[in-house]
Amino acid sequence: MLRRATSSASLLVQQGVSNASRKGARCYASSTDEFDLVVIGSGPGGYVAAIKASQLGLKTACVERMETFGGTCLNVGCIPSKALLNNSYFYHMAKDDFKTRGIECDNVKLNLEVMMGQKADAVKGLTGGIAMLFKSNKITSFKGHGQITSPQEVTVLGPDGSKGQSIKTKNILIATGSEVTPFPGIEVDEETIVSSTGALSLKQVPEKMVVIGAGVIGLELGSVWKRLGSEVTAVEFLPHIGGMGIDMEIAKAFQKILQKQGLKFKLQTKVLGATRQNGKIQVTVEGAKDSKQDTLECDVLLVSVGRRPYTANLGLENVGIQLDKRGRIPVNKRFQTSVANIHAIGDCIDGPMLAHKAEDEGIICVEGIAGGAVHIDYNCVPSVIYTHPEVAWVGKNEEQLKEAGVQYKVGKFPMAANSRAKTNNDTDGLVKILADKETDRILGAHLIGSTAGELVNEAALAMEYGASAEDVARVCHAHPTNSEALREANLAAYFGKAINFS
Ligand SMILES: Cc1cc2nc3c(=O)[nH]c(=O)nc-3n(C[C@H](O)[C@H](O)[C@H](O)COP(=O)(O)OP(=O)(O)OC[C@H]3O[C@@H](n4cnc5c(N)ncnc54)[C@H](O)[C@@H]3O)c2cc1C
Repeated sequence: MLRRATSSASLLVQQGVSNASRKGARCYASSTDEFDLVVIGSGPGGYVAAIKASQLGLKTACVERMETFGGTCLNVGCIPSKALLNNSYFYHMAKDDFKTRGIECDNVKLNLEVMMGQKADAVKGLTGGIAMLFKSNKITSFKGHGQITSPQEVTVLGPDGSKGQSIKTKNILIATGSEVTPFPGIEVDEETIVSSTGALSLKQVPEKMVVIGAGVIGLELGSVWKRLGSEVTAVEFLPHIGGMGIDMEIAKAFQKILQKQGLKFKLQTKVLGATRQNGKIQVTVEGAKDSKQDTLECDVLLVSVGRRPYTANLGLENVGIQLDKRGRIPVNKRFQTSVANIHAIGDCIDGPMLAHKAEDEGIICVEGIAGGAVHIDYNCVPSVIYTHPEVAWVGKNEEQLKEAGVQYKVGKFPMAANSRAKTNNDTDGLVKILADKETDRILGAHLIGSTAGELVNEAALAMEYGASAEDVARVCHAHPTNSEALREANLAAYFGKAINFS
């Protein structure tokens, strides 16, 4: 049931490796210049793997091409986007909501520069934190572009491509992540036509913004700029918002909530191109069903159509590693590539492009290199959209269960009937539990609510332990909390009725 039967601290003990011989593992490199593991990339996959490897006694180095550690997540992804989501939400609350709660603060003004400064502080603090963790864990770091020059060697290239230091190693871990997928024919300048990176650093609030793609990143960044005053329209080719994996009932409810907040959507619509005219951007779109063309004018166009694996100039051809059709590095269940001592994890391999997925892979991959068991249940990797309310899910959605012919039952509980949500005047959303019709085992949890991103972890924990809906429903939950909605939805799934809603 448990995907990892041991903590990493106990792993070596379980394998019969004492603390003394663990210390010995540090000297397992034949010379001080040889490493047990060289990690290429210091994103959430790479830096976490490097720390874990060092904690397990492997002599570890990490090569990073950017100025700061932390990869996409800390520099231009999860962290800066959440800083802006949080602060733009405060701004919206102060401006439009506080008065309904008896808090009067006139003349609420936005100081975008200060808001961006707080975001930069968060990024600086966290990326700097990795440097400190590397130091305290005795990880050697190399600044430069890592290129695999043989299965036992990584060469550090300078910014001009010149060959620098060669690092000898027993194992290599590729954690080079991903980059923004370009939109054919639309050139990003990161000022008026921006990728997610540019959208995190706009110098002023655009009057009108068009977002290509109503997936997770498009919705999060669209929400930020909507709250700060932009008129935002998201154009999406799919018939629903929220990207892949979202339950359709949740996607529809979520869309209604965002529309109530003022976001506009053009679904089943494809973008044909964009041109600049008189300081504005004209975006040509076409209905996917009726082929009707339209032009949307905006001040900023955010291109948010996904990310693709990044493996440029990595030297894979030097060791005979071939990419799959989507540019990902193929690996086996132990994260080994076609060359046994070269591993790969995170965004550059198959699977959801999520920081916590990369971290988990990093940890279990190095546990495997240290001789431990390697197992991850991707069905229990949660997804979160950090809008307000948040949307989160783990496990299967209804459409997937129907397609697989699984007999299931549904338990739902609206946040409007949850006492904490009611108290907080924050009642948008619901919890939906899908459980096996015969065994009652939880198959999926789908949530919309102000704290959905936290609640989903309880559902993931339950699923990791193979819990039934009744198991969760019988756990005493503190009152008043949003988590009671999760309990009630589980009660509705196993018993057919919740207590506080009928
Ligand atoms: C706007 C935005 C918001 C996001 N929000 C979330 C979120 O809330 N939650 C979530 O789970 N995920 C989120 N993501 C996705 C998340 O950032 C990625 O899934 C995660 O960063 C992947 O981690 P990684 O370690 O695989 O790669 P990355 O974080 O991309 O790190 C790879 C690192 O490798 C370095 N590198 C590449 N090639 C070389 C080389 N040859 N030599 C040396 N260094 C190299 C890169 O410079 C980089 O530092 C978001 C992404 C974006 C863009």
